[in-house]
Amino acid sequence: MSIHLLDEHTINQIAAGEVIENTASVVKELIENSIDAQATSISIEIISGGRQLIRITDDGVGMSFEDCRLSIERYATSKIRKVEDLLHLQTMGFRGEALSSIAAISKMKIFTKRKNETLGTLLSISGGVIDTHIQAQMHNGTKIEVESLFFNAPARRKFQKSIERDIADVVKVALTSSLAHPKISFQLISNQKLVFKSSSGLLLNRIKDVLGKEFIDEMIPASFQSDLVQIEGFLSMPSMTRPNRSGQYLFINDRPVSCQSLSFAVSDGYATLLEPRRYPLFVLHFHIPQEFIDVNVHPQKKEVRLRRETQIRTLVTSSIEKALSKTHIITQSIKPLPWEEKSVPNASFSFNVAPAFMSESPPLPNLTIYPRLVGLWSSYILVEAPDEEALFFVDQRALCNRIYFEEYLAKESSLVKQQQTLLIPLSFTFNPKESAQLSMHLKTLNELGLAIRAFGPNTFVVEAIPPAFEERVIETLLYEILGSEDEKDIAKAFAGSQAVSLKAPTFHEAEKLIEKWAKIGYPLYCPKGNQIRWLVTKHSLLKM
Ligand code: ADP
Ligand code: MG
Repeated sequence: MSIHLLDEHTINQIAAGEVIENTASVVKELIENSIDAQATSISIEIISGGRQLIRITDDGVGMSFEDCRLSIERYATSKIRKVEDLLHLQTMGFRGEALSSIAAISKMKIFTKRKNETLGTLLSISGGVIDTHIQAQMHNGTKIEVESLFFNAPARRKFQKSIERDIADVVKVALTSSLAHPKISFQLISNQKLVFKSSSGLLLNRIKDVLGKEFIDEMIPASFQSDLVQIEGFLSMPSMTRPNRSGQYLFINDRPVSCQSLSFAVSDGYATLLEPRRYPLFVLHFHIPQEFIDVNVHPQKKEVRLRRETQIRTLVTSSIEKALSKTHIITQSIKPLPWEEKSVPNASFSFNVAPAFMSESPPLPNLTIYPRLVGLWSSYILVEAPDEEALFFVDQRALCNRIYFEEYLAKESSLVKQQQTLLIPLSFTFNPKESAQLSMHLKTLNELGLAIRAFGPNTFVVEAIPPAFEERVIETLLYEILGSEDEKDIAKAFAGSQAVSLKAPTFHEAEKLIEKWAKIGYPLYCPKGNQIRWLVTKHSLLKM
């Protein structure tokens, strides 16, 4: 076997694999180029989730005839000349890899014109080979069309997920970019329908435009200035959390990135206000002098590394603490009680109880000696923990919510089998953005016992509902689903809808609920973050 250098085409195909994972990565790279070209308005159009067509149009500076030809060469960039330039980087791109990568694995056309030139340029490339390079009349700015992505990369094509997922991923990239650059107008069109449009303005208005007014209603403004870091943005109250970081939009110098140390610094600012493994929502813009940031650590520039990290973290944590302390939140330390710390056999899922024994074969608690039902008071179930000489007030609603959540998460088969078929199907119409979001979750909704299907472009019909549901909750439920990222969010929304029809429990029902509580490991919180139980000890009674 002899060593040989790879040819240009093979190199580009390999590089393309690193930079371009799916249609959303093409959209991300092209949006970044438009931003770097000082566009004030960016239009994104996709057909079939971008598999058939991605078209990005900007009103930026455009390229000359020669530059356009060079732009598709690997490592061709107008943004840096030498490695030191990375220390003062003002642009989103710098690696000169995006256009060459996209050109290698698609059929791409670039239409571009600089303001002071009379004619523009059309360059068309198929699988990295130039078909056309001519001058022609066109508008100022740049329009790039990418068709048949991965047509010559069958391995990559095989790994693509569903078209619905592609649409949702592109929507996410476009939304995130638009949150990163509130001063640029954005519009996203999917299958010829407008998904969202946001005009240039303040971050607050941008959040309203793309994440909805409800999102901002629950948020606290955060603002902080120092030489090392500036922060501007909005944070959720500690009661509004998600089971993952999907509601977190973090920007460093306008670049959407994941930066573990900053996300942790923000969470640390919430200190004990957060339930374990629950994450606050935020849209935060950090401005950090370029010399303290290394963006050259990830091929898609999704991660950055910080210098003077400890100092920056401390500043961030304390500024978040300050922002939160301005609201009237009662700071209360959340600590599991001794009997809650023990791990429970067959606990299906317990994300907020940290088992005290992580070592081999934990002693299994005898569940029968654990909380004993002693009474009912309104919608509270009173249980006694003998070892603790304590009485717990268990909130039936919060507990049921948590139990239902676990059941939906486990997708128990009875949900579909015991569906109630509606005499008259319900029909709902949404806007295109909402339809895209809902379409992504149709399969899960059906698995959870909600028989729903698309009926016309933005209309959906519901023909059957889960066993314990009332018809009136469906509309609210669907709106909640729109904001869902994953199955946990959906299970949470279903649990909430089922809990709407709760009645005060009988003694027997309460006993069953406590049994189920034990089975799932005595979680402290319902999925919405409400506390399940309050403790009264002899000591606290004496103090009253
Ligand atoms: P990079 O962005 O890292 O420089 P790309 O491959 O994404 O590399 O783009 C190569 C070059 O093409 C850019 O440096 C820029 O000069 C030019 N270019 C790409 N897109 C546009 C655009 N929309 N408007 C103007 N110039 C562009
Ligand atoms: Mg680029």
